[in-house]
Amino acid sequence: MKAVVIEPLKENTLHIENVEIPEIKDDEVLVKVIRVGVCGTDKEINEGLYGEAPQGSKFLILGHESFGKIEKIGADVKDFKVGDMVVATVRRGDDCINCVAGESDMCLTGNYKERGIKGLNGYMSEYYVEKPENLVHIPDNIKEEAVLLEPFTIAEKTVIQVFKIQQRMVWEPKTAIVFGTGPVGLLTSILLKLKGLNVYAVDRTEHIDDAKAEIFKRIGINHINSKQENVIDKFKGMQIDIIAEATGNPIVFNECLQLFGVNSVIALLSVTGGNFKTDIDVAKLNYDMVLNNKLIVGVVNANKSYFISGIKDMQEIRDKYGDILEKFITRRVKVSDFNNSDLQKANFELKTVVEFE
Ligand SMILES: [Zn+2]
Repeated sequence: MKAVVIEPLKENTLHIENVEIPEIKDDEVLVKVIRVGVCGTDKEINEGLYGEAPQGSKFLILGHESFGKIEKIGADVKDFKVGDMVVATVRRGDDCINCVAGESDMCLTGNYKERGIKGLNGYMSEYYVEKPENLVHIPDNIKEEAVLLEPFTIAEKTVIQVFKIQQRMVWEPKTAIVFGTGPVGLLTSILLKLKGLNVYAVDRTEHIDDAKAEIFKRIGINHINSKQENVIDKFKGMQIDIIAEATGNPIVFNECLQLFGVNSVIALLSVTGGNFKTDIDVAKLNYDMVLNNKLIVGVVNANKSYFISGIKDMQEIRDKYGDILEKFITRRVKVSDFNNSDLQKANFELKTVVEFE
């Protein structure tokens, strides 16, 4: 079968490799891949920045945003049947207390593995084998957008955790600002809007493509280009309840701090690189956070519970806004044509997917 592979920690090694279709054990299922989403992580792995092949293998099969259909089930598998549509979770925990409790996203040791990223093959192959506990059922009405479920779980975890922590008070959030209009930022904006907030999505792009413009319009998200409008002036004196940062640009954190309101939350979702330094007044920040019950929370990865609640919210989005999530997929590439330059181009697309059928 065809598989999209890279050689970890080397630059631009992405190519198609012919590998054997994996065999299932009695407690496993064989999934036929329909499509896999491409994201910044895949690009960075192909740039050699990180990534780890399975033990004893030279290559890593890429891809962690999966969608497929069950082709074969092992004799002991009960909860799935042939033909079921599924998405697989990504992280496989170790034996720390959080991983054992099903919270591998909160792993205490960092010794987890991740399919398509760290020590385990990903989903960009015609078939993959998985244990049922790492799969979720996809209902028929969201099958076209289900490939977005994995990035959607980051938005899902953010919103659930922010609301959970804020149960420490009477909290009726009304206004949210989301920095970044890449898939994670935009999905977070949509979810906050679904939860009833007035949402401002901030980016710095020169050109808003048609897909994004339609998403803003149909969902009713206020779009602000921070190159054309000063964000700090714009929100001066306004109570901002939730600020989500999903740009990957560390400079934006400073802006978040300036917009930080009473009883408000900053959720940090982007993994920033480089070594940008700034002279934040720590005494003032400490004083301000204490006197105003402010919260800054980091959010990474998502365990299976967020895949399950994410499906419910995706169905609600489908009911309320129709096929809007399908608009995220702005480029489709056949697996046999997929190459290095597609990963570069993926940066300029809202979502590129690799099609296997
Ligand atoms: Zn762990």
